[in-house]
Amino acid sequence: MKAVLQALLDLQVVDRDLHQVQLELKRLPKERAQRRAEIERILGRIAELRNEAKGLRVRIKEFEDVATTQRQRVRKLENDMSNSRADAVLIAHFQHEVKTCKKEISNAEDQGLALLEQVENCDKQAAALQATVDAEEKVYAEFAGNVERELAAAEKRRAELDAERKKRITQNSIPPEALATYSRLLAARDGMPLAPLDGRTCQACFIEIPTNLVVRVTRGSELVPCPSCDRILHI
Ligand SMILES: [Zn+2]
Repeated sequence: MKAVLQALLDLQVVDRDLHQVQLELKRLPKERAQRRAEIERILGRIAELRNEAKGLRVRIKEFEDVATTQRQRVRKLENDMSNSRADAVLIAHFQHEVKTCKKEISNAEDQGLALLEQVENCDKQAAALQATVDAEEKVYAEFAGNVERELAAAEKRRAELDAERKKRITQNSIPPEALATYSRLLAARDGMPLAPLDGRTCQACFIEIPTNLVVRVTRGSELVPCPSCDRILHI
């Protein structure tokens, strides 16, 4: 069993590196996706602002149309008024109509101006966000390029480590049941299925184990799990 334990320890050296590489292979795409999502979020906000501005411009145009129509009406009323010079009642009527029209023109212009301010505000915000996105896109492009290279390197390293672990398993002819226990712990204990003992203390979970277990570990005729963290103990 001492040979098996030694073989598992040799295997763990490879598996610890393999575990790190696997973490990298998960972390890198996740980080890239997070950065992309942040840019997409800002792009979404810009689209919202542009859409809002578009809606506001339509409403401004409507107020402009109202003002134009009323101006035409005023011109017509003034023309009619000059043709009815003598009729005081009619003149009073036209004057009243003109006054109403002018009020509507002024009202439409005021509302249009207020909306124009809002449009300008939207455009300003969108432009500022676009500048942010442009800068972020440059940073992202460089980052994504680095991630591609790092992923390629990690994939290569994983293939090498996979080959190495297969070699160690076959060459050292580890018994299937020992390998099964080891593999279960490998997944459950983040790439560290074995734990060294220092005196009576497990160096993975730092629990003191009973003396009789220490004796069994020292004898080395079986695989002894730590009663706390379940890792295979070794001296
Ligand atoms: Zn332990």
